[in-house]
Amino acid sequence: MNVYKFGGASVKDAAGVKNLANIIRNNQQKELLIVVSAMGKTTNALEKLTFAYLDKTDTEAIFDEIKAYHTAVMNELFEDKQHPVFNDVANTFVEIDWILEEEPQDNADYIYDQIVSIGELISSKIVSAYLSTSGIPTQWIDARSYIHTDNTYREAKVDWDKTCAAIASRVPGIIANGVAVTQGFIGGTSENYTTTLGREGSDYTAAIFASCLDAESVTIWKDVPGVLNADPKWFDETEKIPALSYHDAIELTYYGATVIHPKTIKPLQNKGIPLYVRSFIQPDGVGTKISSQNNPLPIPSFIFKVNQVLISIFPKDYSFIIEENLSDIFNIFHEHKVKINTMLNSAISFSVSVDYDDHKLGKLLNSLRKNYNIKYNKDLELVTIRYYNQQTIDRVTQNKDILLEVKSRYTCQMVMRDKGSEL
Ligand code: ASP
Ligand code: MG
Repeated sequence: MNVYKFGGASVKDAAGVKNLANIIRNNQQKELLIVVSAMGKTTNALEKLTFAYLDKTDTEAIFDEIKAYHTAVMNELFEDKQHPVFNDVANTFVEIDWILEEEPQDNADYIYDQIVSIGELISSKIVSAYLSTSGIPTQWIDARSYIHTDNTYREAKVDWDKTCAAIASRVPGIIANGVAVTQGFIGGTSENYTTTLGREGSDYTAAIFASCLDAESVTIWKDVPGVLNADPKWFDETEKIPALSYHDAIELTYYGATVIHPKTIKPLQNKGIPLYVRSFIQPDGVGTKISSQNNPLPIPSFIFKVNQVLISIFPKDYSFIIEENLSDIFNIFHEHKVKINTMLNSAISFSVSVDYDDHKLGKLLNSLRKNYNIKYNKDLELVTIRYYNQQTIDRVTQNKDILLEVKSRYTCQMVMRDKGSEL
């Protein structure tokens, strides 16, 4: 049994859904569970809708556009305008209408999950209906009855024992009767409220199902030929990495490689399930295989993060950082949910680079300022090189001033800005 995950880009229009069906058709000898994301940029649109509702601004235009987009895709996919999918999708959208009719009262994160999860529910219904209509036996399943989570809305934690018990007991029988189609990104609480697992969480869903089913493999179908050694957004010349160890994949995603969600790898590594990253544009290509095998000739990889803030923290009483202040400082970052991308300490100062977030930064700095003097720089970039050497460092630091540099045996991180941009 194998798990396929199709992201938003792969099902962004009718042609994408047809292409998905071809990929399934060509692999029908396998038992398959497929996990789909919301279509195209639907999650962003539903986020916008949620914030408009919470801010009590106009929601109608945003919602209409979301509905029109899905209707257009369905119109192209289903000749029969009486096909039950039209009703099914309309009824699912009605759940949003019910929310919008009332004044926002509940917790904002809870509301977010109830609205944003609709994207995956709808895309999976459309995909499932299309596969059935194309003659591929298909079973739609509701991920919320399998992925059991706590009620940390927008970032729900999976209850693995409950989840695996549900999946292992019920899903194999379903898959035996046809391709199972489910939603990425969403789960359910013990009170049957919908949760989401964090942005880009569909990869993680695929890994959870695969792990609980002891799948042979997971394949993530993407718009790139595999895992590249840099994001083509930053480099003209990128190289596809044919094979990666789980360990390297975890490191790369942790540092910000967006090709796979960082939580995806660990459950697969624990079960020794290989993960393939392949192109839905060229489904015959071999892609990248992520497994326990180490690549004997590692290819240097580059991860860029822009919009970084470098914060330097000095205890006001000149006490030493490590002994007296580190846990306090970490606590403050934790309280404000600010993730540290890289850090370095000296005797009496501690420097960190974090993503710029207008909303969080001011509050974080205010908390820190109680006991510390703070200096910070904005508009920086953070480059991480895995398997670095001098040549790769030179390649990325041309015309840059380096403000902070941290090296371990295999990984080098640099926080930098364009030369002469300090004003
Ligand atoms: N649709 C969700 C998002 O865009 C989850 C996913 O695509 O993985 O974040
Ligand atoms: Mg994605």
